[in-house]
Amino acid sequence: MDKLTIRDFDPAGKRVLVRVDFNVPVEDGKVKDDTRIRAALPTIRYLLSHGASIVLMSHLGRPKGKVVESARLRPVAERLSSLLGRPVPVTGDALGIGTRDAVARLKPGQLLLLENLRFHGEEEANDAEYAATLASYGDVFVNDAFGTAHRAHASTVGVASHLPGYAGLLMEAEINALSKLLEAPAKPFAAVIGGAKVSGKLGVLENLLTKVDALLIGGGMANTFIVAQGHTVGKSLLERELVDDAQRILELAEKRGVQVVLPTDVVVAKEVTRGAEHKVVPVHKVPNSWSIVDIGPASTDAFTQALEPMQTVLWNGPLGVFEVPTFGDGTRAIARFLARRADDGATVIVGGGDSVAALEELGLTDRLAHVSTGGGATLEFLEGRELPGVAVLEDRPAADPAPRRRAAKSGKESQAIVAAGDRKARS
Ligand code: ADP
Ligand code: MG
Repeated sequence: MDKLTIRDFDPAGKRVLVRVDFNVPVEDGKVKDDTRIRAALPTIRYLLSHGASIVLMSHLGRPKGKVVESARLRPVAERLSSLLGRPVPVTGDALGIGTRDAVARLKPGQLLLLENLRFHGEEEANDAEYAATLASYGDVFVNDAFGTAHRAHASTVGVASHLPGYAGLLMEAEINALSKLLEAPAKPFAAVIGGAKVSGKLGVLENLLTKVDALLIGGGMANTFIVAQGHTVGKSLLERELVDDAQRILELAEKRGVQVVLPTDVVVAKEVTRGAEHKVVPVHKVPNSWSIVDIGPASTDAFTQALEPMQTVLWNGPLGVFEVPTFGDGTRAIARFLARRADDGATVIVGGGDSVAALEELGLTDRLAHVSTGGGATLEFLEGRELPGVAVLEDRPAADPAPRRRAAKSGKESQAIVAAGDRKARS
């Protein structure tokens, strides 16, 4: 990675402002899934054990600039506290004298969590004054919130104009895994793309077409491609305005010699609900008033056959309406197959909230090379875009002494070089 990380400065005695993504599902005051909290533990433990104190900051949900009781971070702090085995107090607010004093009282090895950053509209607006206040809580800034790195908010971007910014260990792992995928994947490389809509993933499909040997398309997004192939899809989810784009992607794939695998048979249902009447039909025989809800068994076989020789597989988006168990056969079959490929040494990377949820349900996450904690951030990264929350972090100085960046950021650049020098001196 070309950004400096927490291993590139000496945390001892420093107060470190750490942006984490603790945007986890909370129900009845309890954290339902603590994956994102556990994912931040390596950074937190590293900093504490190296003598830093930590001011953690996160958002939770979409309170839109108001205090929303159900979006308080207390349940998150409780879970973090039990994972770390030490107290994690939450401030009453991200701002205010009480918070400032609590931060000032922190001793090395101690941490606290600021209350939900989005209780202030200034967070998402990347308000300069709000960012300056947050920055005043720390000596250095660490961004470990990969899942929020595609947003230019006060806590992800604004603070970095006041403090030198470093990548946390989760941020580093995410970027390394996803960059390897785009830059140097073991070949052959296939992408399995599903999920509801083409619209959110058009850029990803286009960028991946320049990297992959095979592109497998399922889920609701396949419908738009099925129509582009000249079939009808009844009442299925369809983005008619994107049929031309789908057509263009198919042509581009052909030109580039990328193998495209689309469903040849599908599960159709009278209603997209549990218990609805359903059957398997060839893709050119979808009845008018039925909806496609999953890939069919012949398609599942074709998908696994295409994946068998692959050394790298990226999977994003379920292949059917897997929330209804009857319509989750395709998704489950591919998930199990990919776990087996991973056991055999293939690099399997999964990104996307719903795809990851499907894997977790099956207990397969641990068998894969990398399961991304990002949703939108992962997609934007895979589109080949630089994420704003990553862009602001300190660049790793080139081995060559010639500065890689021009004068504008020279102040930060020299700090970064000093920090990197620090590390050398210590190791
Ligand atoms: P991810 O979160 O993994 O990126 P998406 O959010 O893009 O995935 O898509 C997940 C959603 O796609 C799920 O809610 C699933 O029900 C829906 N979906 C999958 N296949 C279909 C289909 N054939 N018709 C309608 N919705 C579908
Ligand atoms: Mg989703």
